[in-house]
Amino acid sequence: MSCVIAGGGPAGAMLALLLARSGVEVTLLEKHGDFLRDFRGDTIHPSTLQVLDELGLAGEFLRLPHRKAYDLYLATDRGDVRMATLRRLRGRYRYVAFVPQWDFLNLITSAAARYPGFRLLMNAEACGLIREGGAVRGLRYRDATGEHEIRAALTVAADGRHSVLRERAGLVPQDLGAPMDVVWFRLPREPRDRDDTFLRLSPGHMMVAINRESYWQLAYLVLKGGYDEMTRQGIDALRGPVAGLLPWLGDRIGQLGSYDDVSVLTVMINRLRRWHRPGLLFIGDAAHAMSPVFGVGINLAVQDAVATANLLAGPLRSGAPIPEAALHRVQRRRMPPARVTQAAQRVVQNLVISRALTRRLDPSGLPPDLTRIPLLNRVAPRFIGHGVRPEHVTVKEL
Ligand SMILES: Cc1cc2nc3c(=O)[nH]c(=O)nc-3n(C[C@H](O)[C@H](O)[C@H](O)COP(=O)(O)OP(=O)(O)OC[C@H]3O[C@@H](n4cnc5c(N)ncnc54)[C@H](O)[C@@H]3O)c2cc1C
Repeated sequence: MSCVIAGGGPAGAMLALLLARSGVEVTLLEKHGDFLRDFRGDTIHPSTLQVLDELGLAGEFLRLPHRKAYDLYLATDRGDVRMATLRRLRGRYRYVAFVPQWDFLNLITSAAARYPGFRLLMNAEACGLIREGGAVRGLRYRDATGEHEIRAALTVAADGRHSVLRERAGLVPQDLGAPMDVVWFRLPREPRDRDDTFLRLSPGHMMVAINRESYWQLAYLVLKGGYDEMTRQGIDALRGPVAGLLPWLGDRIGQLGSYDDVSVLTVMINRLRRWHRPGLLFIGDAAHAMSPVFGVGINLAVQDAVATANLLAGPLRSGAPIPEAALHRVQRRRMPPARVTQAAQRVVQNLVISRALTRRLDPSGLPPDLTRIPLLNRVAPRFIGHGVRPEHVTVKEL
């Protein structure tokens, strides 16, 4: 086996597709039995749409049920503020597509399955590394039938923020801090509701409402540690603020029966100093956990995958062992975008989210259209839409 990848999230699935497409034998392991889990983020940005286009998958992707957001709005106590518009971005894709991530991952893995070198193992949880002669030579995984080994020239850990392989390799990421966690739940959507996906901010409270047609996927932000206190106070401690922020949900807030109906998602920003060991590479959140700020983590994970395939598909195809210097080239290329994006996320976390949740920020004094501020209007759409150093697929299909 040339390459084994742990983790069927955006990073792992996209890398598997790109490698299989370029003639590399690759096995992708996903610990769950499907991609149908929630809490994954729904945003596909122009940089990822461009990658799909380069792979000939944009048409198929756009046939998935999706919503396009050309403008990003913040709802305040005094009305909506347009924060950014992607309408004047360069390129064909001038919007963020909101697609449940399971649809995206099913599309990517189905596309990968068209290539003979691709193998997908679901319900397969990577649990250890095979080490020989000072290098990683594959991984161990568990499934319903027991524990197994896969030997490979390259092992890629794309197993997310709580990476098991990172721990097995003895690597500890540098924690860059996040002041909040996210309480995640859904409520039915009525035809008379507003029909976009938006951010709602009022002093002391902040939430995101994602329109998933028949229901609202809602993310209510709490200060770190605040969820325990909230649960002690009972479900009204959540129902009350949500109905206060979005009064039109008041008629159905009672459907949030108890805290069994919600999940709390830990937000973290961290980064490995070194993304590799001999025979082992970390990409996506396993290398650099992203905050939900700007909704760009999926896109960074995809861009990591594209850079990895561009740099490593050739050597992997040849079957020769991959020198660690080649793995370092992936880190050199992708560390700067991760670093800059995380720095921007921390600025927003500290200047906006932290202050909003502690009632030190009231956005209702903002002008209704921030896109009229020329510098902001130039920088924000490019940063959000294309990100820092967008990657293009240069590796050929074989
Ligand atoms: C609350 C919250 C909301 C977010 N919202 C957004 C958003 O709207 N848009 C956005 O772009 N980003 C968002 N992000 C960030 C985004 O989720 C991540 O940056 C992105 O998912 C990283 O992709 P990944 O493939 O590296 O990891 P993941 O998406 O975490 O995928 C890792 C995969 O590996 C699997 N796995 C884990 N361990 C193992 C194992 N041992 N063996 C096999 N498989 C394993 C997991 O099941 C999972 O499928 C959000 C983050 C948080 C915390």
